[in-house]
Amino acid sequence: MRRISVFGATGSIGQNTLDLIARAPGEYRVVALTGGANIVQLAADARRLGAEVAVTAYPDRLDELRAALAGSGIEAGAGEAALIEAADRPADWIMSAIVGAAGLAPGFRALRHGTTLALANKESLVTAGPLLMAEARAHGATILPVDSEHSAIFQGLVGEDMSAVEKIIVTASGGGLRDWPLEALPMATVADAGAHPNWDMGQRITIDSASMFNKAMELIETKEFFGVAPEKIEAVIHPQSIVHALVGFRDGALMAHLGAPDMRHAIGYALHWPERRDLPVARIDLAQIATLEFYAPDLRRYPALGLARAVMETGGFAGSVFNAAKETALDGFLAGRIGFMDMAGVVEGTLDAMSSEIRLTNPPSGLEDVLQVDQMARTRAWAAIETRETA
Ligand code: NDP
Repeated sequence: MRRISVFGATGSIGQNTLDLIARAPGEYRVVALTGGANIVQLAADARRLGAEVAVTAYPDRLDELRAALAGSGIEAGAGEAALIEAADRPADWIMSAIVGAAGLAPGFRALRHGTTLALANKESLVTAGPLLMAEARAHGATILPVDSEHSAIFQGLVGEDMSAVEKIIVTASGGGLRDWPLEALPMATVADAGAHPNWDMGQRITIDSASMFNKAMELIETKEFFGVAPEKIEAVIHPQSIVHALVGFRDGALMAHLGAPDMRHAIGYALHWPERRDLPVARIDLAQIATLEFYAPDLRRYPALGLARAVMETGGFAGSVFNAAKETALDGFLAGRIGFMDMAGVVEGTLDAMSSEIRLTNPPSGLEDVLQVDQMARTRAWAAIETRETA
C-alpha cells in the first residue's frame, strides 16, 4: 500500500485530494493529515481514512483535537514542531496544500526523506524556489506540480527537450472582477472579489485570482520550477478556463493542455504519475463550448503582473518579499483596512523599502534566511498599510 500524507487536508485542495484517496479503498495507507482551525473536519477525515496522526497548526486547539479523536487510537499533534514531525514520518507521496508561507517548512522537510512531494503550495516555490529544487535533487526526491497551470506545462513537456522550449503561456480566467469597469475596482469588496466565475477554491486564492496576484505567483512559480528565463513566460486571459497552459516550441508548435476546471485533474495526475488513471472529472465537449477566447491582460487592471516580472528578474529574496507583502496586503484588504487596488501599492512599496535594507538579488543561503526576510517584509507591509490608512 502506498503511504500518503496530506498537509492542509481540511482546505480546498486537501479535500479534493482526500476525495480521490477515498475512492480507492485499500490502495493507500494514510499517515498524516494536517489542518488549521477546522478541527471537526480534520478529526472526521482522520477517523474516516484511518490516519496514523492528525495535526492542527494551532497549539491552543490541541485539547479539542484530542477530544475529537478520543477512542480512535489516532495520535494528535499541534503546532509547527508537530507539522515537522508529521513530515518526518515515512510516506511515499505527500500533498503540500497548506495555504501561505506556513506551507514551506513542512514540504521542505519532507524532501529530506526522498519522498514524492505533490506541490500545491505555490508560496514554497515563490519564496524559496532554488532552495527547494536543490533540496529535492540532493535527496533524490521528486516534486510534482499541482497548480493546474503547472501540471499542464509539466504534461506538455513530457518527452520534450527544454532547449526546444521557446515560451510558456499561462492562462488566467481574469477572476471575479474581470468585467468590472477599471474605475470601479477600488470600490470592490471582499465579497465581490471572493466570487470566482469558474473555479471553486479557498477564499484567499479566489481574491488573489481577482487581483491576479495568484497569476503573478504562478509566473514566478513557472520560472522556478521549470528553470525558464522570465522573458519566455507570459500570461494570457482566457475566460473559459479550459486551456490551462501552453508550451511553445522552437518549430512554432504550441502544445495546449485542455481540461475541465476541476482541481482533481491536476491532483489526480500527480497522485498517479507517471500513469494516467480514470478520474471523476467532467469531460470536455468542444462543440458545446464552441468558443475559446484569449486576450492580453491590461496591466492597469492587474498591476501584480508587472510586479511579478520585476521579481522574476531580480531573483534572490525578491520572491520572499513579494509573497510576504502580498499575504499581508490581502490580510489588510480582508480586514477592511485597505481597498482592493491598494494591495499592489502595498506590495510595490514593500519591495522598495526592503531593497534599501537588504540586497534583494542575493540568493538565500537557507530556509532561515527566507523566513527572516519574510518576517521583515511583513512588518514593512503592515507599515505601508498604516501609511495608506492615515493618508
Ligand atoms: P484553503 O484555504 O482552502 O486551505 C488551506 C489549508 O491550510 C487548510 O487545511 C487550513 O486549515 C490550512 N492552514 C491554514 N493556515 C495554516 C497555518 N498557519 N499552518 C498550517 N496550516 C494552515 O486553501 P487552498 O486549498 O485553496 O490552497 C492551498 C494551497 O494550494 C495554496 O498555496 C494555494 O495557492 C494552492 N492552490 C490552490 C488551488 C485551489 O484550487 N484551491 C489551485 C492551485 C494551488 P483550516 O482550514 O483547518 O484552518
